[in-house]
Amino acid sequence: PITEAGWNFDNSYARLPEILYVRQGPVPVSAPKLVVLNERLAASLGLNAQALQSGDGVAVLAGNRVPGGASPLAQAYAGHQFGHFNRLGDGRALLLGEQITPAGERVDIQLKGSGRTPFSRRGDGRAALGPMLREYIISEAMHALGIATTRSLAVVTTGETIIRETELPGAVLTRVAASHLRVGTFQFAANWGNTRDLEALADYTLQRHYPEAAAGENRYLTLLRQVIQRQAGLIAKWQLVGFIHGVMNTDNMALSGETIDYGPCAFMDVYDPATVFSSIDVNGRYAYGNQPYIAAWNLARFAESLLPLLHEDEAEAVKLAEREIASFTQLFQQHWFAGMRAKLGLFNEEDDDPALFERLLGLMKQHRADYTNTFRSLTLGKLEGTSLFGSEEFARWHELYQARRGRQQESESDSKQLMRSSNPAIVPRNHRVEEALEAAVEQDDYSVMERLLSALADPYAYSSEQYAYSAPPAESGEPYRTFCG
Ligand code: AMP
Ligand code: MG
Ligand code: MG
Repeated sequence: PITEAGWNFDNSYARLPEILYVRQGPVPVSAPKLVVLNERLAASLGLNAQALQSGDGVAVLAGNRVPGGASPLAQAYAGHQFGHFNRLGDGRALLLGEQITPAGERVDIQLKGSGRTPFSRRGDGRAALGPMLREYIISEAMHALGIATTRSLAVVTTGETIIRETELPGAVLTRVAASHLRVGTFQFAANWGNTRDLEALADYTLQRHYPEAAAGENRYLTLLRQVIQRQAGLIAKWQLVGFIHGVMNTDNMALSGETIDYGPCAFMDVYDPATVFSSIDVNGRYAYGNQPYIAAWNLARFAESLLPLLHEDEAEAVKLAEREIASFTQLFQQHWFAGMRAKLGLFNEEDDDPALFERLLGLMKQHRADYTNTFRSLTLGKLEGTSLFGSEEFARWHELYQARRGRQQESESDSKQLMRSSNPAIVPRNHRVEEALEAAVEQDDYSVMERLLSALADPYAYSSEQYAYSAPPAESGEPYRTFCG
């Protein structure tokens, strides 16, 4: 039965083997207040924005009321965190249930910051307002950039204070995801479940994300292959827009192929593969340039957890898994090359293209060029005002590039069009995100954030409004730092 607000739950995860979750309700908060609501997303989910804004609606988003049909649970998972294997689970989040949308899609509705669960360990189960708004802004920006991601439906303040280094206002984020199945979910099942649990989880994942393969022969090998393919495409997109995830632990890699976990992520300003923003990533494990290697490493952990299902003979299973994992690099490169061609307005392929890309990136690094703005300037044909554009080496590269463009059939205007749809005019720059969060958290002024969200909603529009957001941060002595939130 669909509720007045439009909640229409079916809870397939709650029908999986019990080892995979713990039934748990949200812990009520004292004074919930809705501060952001994603009305367009609500509509696409079949939810009534007005009803969500009412007292009862907000009570659901705060975890004070469980809507009819929901079946809240905390998911069990494990994960390699910075290379170390740990038993984890939803310590401050709950799956309310799966919303069946008017289009017939099934999406997870998750409350993040909803209180303690059996997986909380020493944590308080809560989230601070700043990081939840940050997830809202960046995940919605990623979606607008055309990158698969979990979405943000709403942020509610709790009226309660949480204690971190200082006292902070608490909040609950409603996250919408194709699912919350992670590499770490399989690691959990492989380590603490039996083969039947693992099989049920694998069949469930196939059914939910790769239904074409669910009935096929060698379906578990197909599952591995498909997950690898989606991750190759996803990570290439991150690289192409300069997105640094920051905490690519295996529990933060979704099997749906969506970007998940917006803790310490950030967009790169100056192009440098060594860029790291996360305060806890002291060794640069999750640096921009490492992301494809880490993805392959995580996928190898996924493959390991699948071994018992791949072949009855373990040596055979390992051989099959290794072959699939080895394909990642090439798959990633194919996506990345295709993306770089598009960013440079190239339609056809030439053998020297990779060298052309590497040369440009090398010069960008050398001249500390801003990643987004360099491609935006190339798109607009405004090659002035930076050390890069003023250099001889760039002039030589540009001659090669122009000659390269001349060797394709497509017109100059088609090429420009391709560039415009491949190079965002705006990304959520750290200093602009911080400014929006500060106004919201410190002054209860959400207008700065609303303006930023509206500029980010169509990153390929090249509007004058977006131009105001294009200035890179002042290059001060202090590097920008992010926290896990
Ligand atoms: P993350 O770094 O966000 O991927 O989270 C890693 C693990 O820590 C997950 O199992 C989270 O549920 C848990 N966790 C993070 N923050 C808290 C918190 N405040 N209370 C309880 N568990 C938490
Ligand atoms: Mg996480
Ligand atoms: Mg997190």
